[in-house]
Order: sequence, then structure tokens, then C-alpha cells
Amino acid sequence: MQVLDYAQDVHSVQETTQTFAGITEQLIKRINDQQSLNVFLSMNPNVIQDAQSIDQHNHEGMSLKGMTIAVKDNISTTGMPMTCGSKMLEHFQPMYDATVIERLKKNGAIILGKVNMDEFAMGSSGETSYFGPTDHPQFPGYVPGGSSSGSAVSVAAGLSHASLGSDTGGSVRQPAAFCGIYGFKPSYGRISRYGLTAFASSLDQIGIFSGDVATMALVFDAISGHDSHDSTTDPRPAAQSSEMVKKPLDLQTLTLAILPEQELMGLDNDVRRVYEELVRKLTALGVKFIHQAIPGSKAWIPTYYILATAEASSNLARFDGVRYGWRDSSSNDMTTASRSSGFGMEVKRRIMLGTYVLSSGYYEAYYVKAQKARRAIVQGYSSIFSKADALLLPTTAGLPFKRGEIKNPLEMYLSDYFTVSANIAGIPAISFPAGNSSEGLPIGMQLQTALMNDEVLLAITQAISSVH
Ligand code: GLN
Repeated sequence: MQVLDYAQDVHSVQETTQTFAGITEQLIKRINDQQSLNVFLSMNPNVIQDAQSIDQHNHEGMSLKGMTIAVKDNISTTGMPMTCGSKMLEHFQPMYDATVIERLKKNGAIILGKVNMDEFAMGSSGETSYFGPTDHPQFPGYVPGGSSSGSAVSVAAGLSHASLGSDTGGSVRQPAAFCGIYGFKPSYGRISRYGLTAFASSLDQIGIFSGDVATMALVFDAISGHDSHDSTTDPRPAAQSSEMVKKPLDLQTLTLAILPEQELMGLDNDVRRVYEELVRKLTALGVKFIHQAIPGSKAWIPTYYILATAEASSNLARFDGVRYGWRDSSSNDMTTASRSSGFGMEVKRRIMLGTYVLSSGYYEAYYVKAQKARRAIVQGYSSIFSKADALLLPTTAGLPFKRGEIKNPLEMYLSDYFTVSANIAGIPAISFPAGNSSEGLPIGMQLQTALMNDEVLLAITQAISSVH
């Protein structure tokens, strides 16, 4: 299985008799051959016509001409169901395109279909989907990571040029690391959330998967920028990172922060080896490193799981069996019956936790405290980025694991250790492929930088990837 090369495909359309419709047809065939991965939940019924229309018209200035995209099934896309990986929305047909979908189409991208995910984006392994787990593209029986499991596998298995996911606590970066590709969570507010089904609104951000930084930058430029439909978007216009990632960045001008020894204790041996090797290699190339303890790291996971569950319990209250979605009329209390049979275990656990931390007796002890911890984490990051251009850290402490191996929810939550703090602080973060374990399992490393410094983050990632 090979990751697709968008630049190469554009070149072959320009220079040979190849067409975007031809490439799309091959992909549909490949998707059908790879059904056992359980990636696509629904296909765009007009995909070939869409590709033909891209071939036929002169779409001057369209930056994503013919780029095939898989979309996580919590992003509203007309013409296809949106299930959020849940029985609750099994037959739900959304009525409008999310802003990101509108912008992809406007720029000539081809939407292939909607892809599998952990139910309501709650999970780290792709195992909580009502529609069954997504398999790992290279290691059958292993998890591809989650919650954007289908989005990661789609790119890693060469089923689409790029894909969209959502990242509330790591759901783009962690599966990207597990599948050996790039996964980018931009700054909060840089990409509109209009049309993204809310999980935890103050942490959610739409993110991008790709096989290379240049493709990532093209998609980011196309979908980012202010949106009047989402008042939390930043006022600035679309990003212009594509030009930036083409210019070589002088590694000798770069200062990176790295974790001190005590933060590396719990790392898997192979993850630690890849991290240390990368630091050694970059040091030899002239990158300056400073050791930087991240204040409040012990608070990352508790803060995230208090804030995320509190917001989720409120956001998911709308699924009551009344207006849309699954309705269970088997008892007099239709709402309770619908929610009991429509939601899976993990979602129920989050709703229970969230209502608990928001309940009047515990609000101060948990929710208010987590808000304070959030502020301290934001300040901790500001102090790091006043001394370093970016922070380099592993994406995950461990390796991709076997399906069914992690049964304890708390242990599963700990797999987000290195990713949640970027969502808590709203800063941009990217996972890039950095090596493999002794058995060949992919290992990703992560770069994080200051709020709204997204373009620079992509440029640094490109510079590191090209020497590594
Ligand atoms: N794994 C984390 C969780 O289960 C993150 C989810 C996400 O980013 N959507 O909450």
C-alpha cells in the first residue's frame, strides 16, 4: 500500500492522457478491494461526474484541482449520510455543506466519501464506532489510532490524496502517528467549525491528514480563514503556507524546546530511541535545543477529561429522539429509551462524567479548577515560545497496539498524554512520521508552536522532514 502523491498525479494529468476521472475510478476500485479495512461508511454517489467536471472545465486558479478527499463522518456534507459513527445518527442526512466542504469544492477538490470514526469522536483507537473498528493499514489486527481512524487509514492506504478529521484532544495527530503519515491540528479558530458536529466546542478543531507537507499546506490554505458562520474563527483571511513551505528554512536559525529527562520516563523504548535520534541528527545540522519542563504536565489529562466531558454532556443533550436521529419508542420515556439504545458505552461514560463534574456540588471542585489549570497551561506555553520557535515532543508515549488490548478506559485516556495540551491551549500542532519500532510499527513525532503561528509550523515540519 502506498500513499498517493498529489503533485505527481497533477503532473501526469498535465503531461499524459491521464485524467482526474481516471485516477478517481482507480481509487474507487482500490477502496472496494480494501473493504476489510472498514474505512468508508458512505461514498459520494456523484464522485465520477464530479471528477469529469473537473477534467472538462478550465478551473484556472483552483488550488486543489482533482485532489481526492475523504471526510470524517462528523462533518456535514450534502448528498451523503452523517452518522458520527453512532447508531444515534445512522440514517441522518445533513442538509448543508460544512464551510470546509464548501471551500474544498470551490477549489476543485473531489469529495470521495465519508469515513469511519470513534463514536462522536470519543476514543483513541477507532474501536468505539457503531459500524465496527477500522483496521491498521500495514498491521492487520492493530488499531490505526482514533478517533479519526478512517481519515488516517484512507491516506495511509493510498485511498485518497488527503482527508479531513477532527481533533479535540489528539484525534488527528495520534492516528497520523500510528499510520505513519502527517496529521495537523491548526490553531483554534483558524478553520471554521461550521458543520462539524460538536464534541467539546472549546477544544474541537478540524484537522488535515496527508502524505506530505506540500499537500497539507495546499489544503490548509484552501479551507482556513475567517467564516461569518462561526464566530469563534479568527478574523484573519486564509493561510498562505504553500509558498512558505517551498522556501528552504535555515535549520541553523531554529531553536527547539525538548522535554527534560523526567518527562521521558514513561516512553516506550522505541519511541524514546526515535526521539533521541532525531534530536541528535538535528543538533548535528545546527538546530539549537533547550530543555524545557512544561509546567502543569500532570494536569493535562485531568484538565482535558473534565473540560471535554463537561462540554460533551451539554452538546450531546440535543440527541433526544425528538427532532432527528434514532428514536426508541419502546417505553413511555422515549428520550431515555432513545439515548439508552442510541449511544454506545464510551459516549454514555463521557455524558455521565460530564454531568457529574458540572453538578452543583462538584462544579467548583472540578470544572472551575480545570478552567484555572487551563489558564496555567496557556501561560506555560507562552513562556516556552518566548524562548523557542517550537516544542518537539513525541506524539504518543506508546506504539500502535492490538485491537482489544486496552480494556481499561483510564489506560486508553492516558494514550492522549502528549496531545491534549495543544487543544487546551488552542495552539497549532502537527504529527509527522519519524521512524519505526523494531517490529516496523510507525512512530510519529510532534511539533507545537505559538497560537496563530501555523504557517511557520508547517515550514519547520517541511525543513525537518526533508533532512530526516
Ligand atoms: N482520544 C481523545 C478522546 O477520546 C481525543 C478525541 C478527539 O480528539 N476527538 O477524547
